[in-house]
Amino acid sequence: MFNLEKLIRANILALTPYSSARDEFKGEAKVFLDANENSFGSPAGDSHNRYPDPMQKNLKDRLSAIKGVPAGNIFLGNGSDEVIDILFRVFCEPGRDNVIIVPPTYGMYEVSANINAVEVRKVPLTAEFQLNVEGISESVDENTKLIFICSPNNPTGNSIDRDDVEFVLNNFNGIVAVDEAYINYSRQKSFIAELTEYPNLVVMQTLSKAWGLAGVRIGMLFASDEIIAVMNKVKPPYNIGTPAQELALNALNRIQEVNEWIRSTVSERDRLVRQLAHNLLIRKIYPSDANFLLVKVDEPKKVYNYLVDKGIIIRDRSGVTLCEGCLRITVGTPAENEMLITELNNYSKQFSFNQ
Ligand SMILES: *Cc1c(COP(=O)(O)O)cnc(C)c1O
Repeated sequence: MFNLEKLIRANILALTPYSSARDEFKGEAKVFLDANENSFGSPAGDSHNRYPDPMQKNLKDRLSAIKGVPAGNIFLGNGSDEVIDILFRVFCEPGRDNVIIVPPTYGMYEVSANINAVEVRKVPLTAEFQLNVEGISESVDENTKLIFICSPNNPTGNSIDRDDVEFVLNNFNGIVAVDEAYINYSRQKSFIAELTEYPNLVVMQTLSKAWGLAGVRIGMLFASDEIIAVMNKVKPPYNIGTPAQELALNALNRIQEVNEWIRSTVSERDRLVRQLAHNLLIRKIYPSDANFLLVKVDEPKKVYNYLVDKGIIIRDRSGVTLCEGCLRITVGTPAENEMLITELNNYSKQFSFNQ
């Protein structure tokens, strides 16, 4: 049986959270002398002398309308990276608890575990980059608190089979964190719709990818009221600044434009696949549900360095589990993709002359 209280660290369960001035008085007033702000103003203009809304109410209301989730089931972090860190701090007792990750996957789960002195158990994906469900079951013990599943997965690009994720949700009494950073590029349904079904599910999304706000730092977590409440207790009171909240709110009104970029990205991704398929250098192009492609080549470091020389930076993932020989390429604009294809074709010609 799932028992949230048993999963939460004792010190967090007992924690009296910091009560900020903005928590204690929320209404309208003529004079605010409660937060030791600079009453004269701010050199940054507007009302930047004031602390931001600690609960990001306007932004959550807008996200609630877009995502079809009550605002009370949304937690916002300073990027997903902060969301991940807070999951560790809420659920994992340093030096005792463990989490399961399924490499190759996003690197921050492991780094965040290491920062929090939490053991990481690795159950690699299968050769098809799917979950090894049996291996996961075998690795779980009474101190396993979190399982991270990234879908579509970074750096492989594929979506994880839904049935397998549901199997884990049904058979694990800890928290299953499904990271959907790339969901906007996928035909897969978001797991947000399953939140009412699974009390142990948390879904992470971000404004950093499709929404084009990587510099603004807004990560989202969707979960039960109870999980959101404990996350709010642990987060720094003012974790998202007013400029970030305002920029994000305005950006969320431009959904049409963002959807257009998503369509263009997906069509450019498919074009890149067709073009790269002609290149003799490329041994394999993995199917992608994201805004990047994982490709296998013979000499990844040479290809990487050649492209750097031409001013084009991609990601060398050849050192990563199950990604031997692999490079990760973000889908660019049509002009950027054209430059990439041209340079890879040039390299390929040079390479065949050298044989
Ligand atoms: C890029 C990415 C994120 C986004 O992190 P932010 O801190 O929100 O920018 C989260 N998860 C995965 C798997 C990613 O690739």
